[in-house]
Amino acid sequence: MRTHSKETQNNLNPDTALEILKEGNQRFVNNLKANRNLLQQVNETSAGQFPFATILSCIDSRTSAELIFDQGLGDVFSIRIAGNILNEDILGSMEFGTKVVGTKIIVVLGHTKCGAIVGACNHVELGNLTTLLNKIQPAIAKEKSVTDNRTGTNVEFVNKVIDIHVTLTIDRIRRESPIIAELEEQGTIKIIGALYDVETGQVSFYE
Ligand SMILES: [Zn+2]
Repeated sequence: MRTHSKETQNNLNPDTALEILKEGNQRFVNNLKANRNLLQQVNETSAGQFPFATILSCIDSRTSAELIFDQGLGDVFSIRIAGNILNEDILGSMEFGTKVVGTKIIVVLGHTKCGAIVGACNHVELGNLTTLLNKIQPAIAKEKSVTDNRTGTNVEFVNKVIDIHVTLTIDRIRRESPIIAELEEQGTIKIIGALYDVETGQVSFYE
């Protein structure tokens, strides 16, 4: 598998970038990891990086973007924080990834059995985690369909909150980053949500 160069990055568009991620996840779930010499990629990326995707995912130890999309060094900007929440530092990182470095797609990747979402659904309060989990509350407030047991023990409820949280995060990216919104309007980038299933390894994109 080739390391991305300025040329290969330039030849991609948002749709082909999405295809690369889909193909990578298919290899991952089929255990067909691409042949990649990481040490060689250290050399090939030493003078510069030309990644094609910016991915916001959870710190969960099962959801490493490079692994689940079968990518190598220099392929993706991987932004990871508990519950794939958004703040202005993360928006700044996304602006760097897209406007400055030229990635073609932003993926907001939630995942099943997310401890942060479960914690938020249970209104856990613990040190600095309280502030972080509060950023998930808007998704809980927006979930109106579940009336019984609106807690982290209700998998159906948690799954709905996970989906809404991804959607709200994408809305906020567009609203709070005029730079990214403009890139999307121009068709330079695509912003897409997705869900990683920790039981199957499969990523489902929200299209
Ligand atoms: Zn998580």
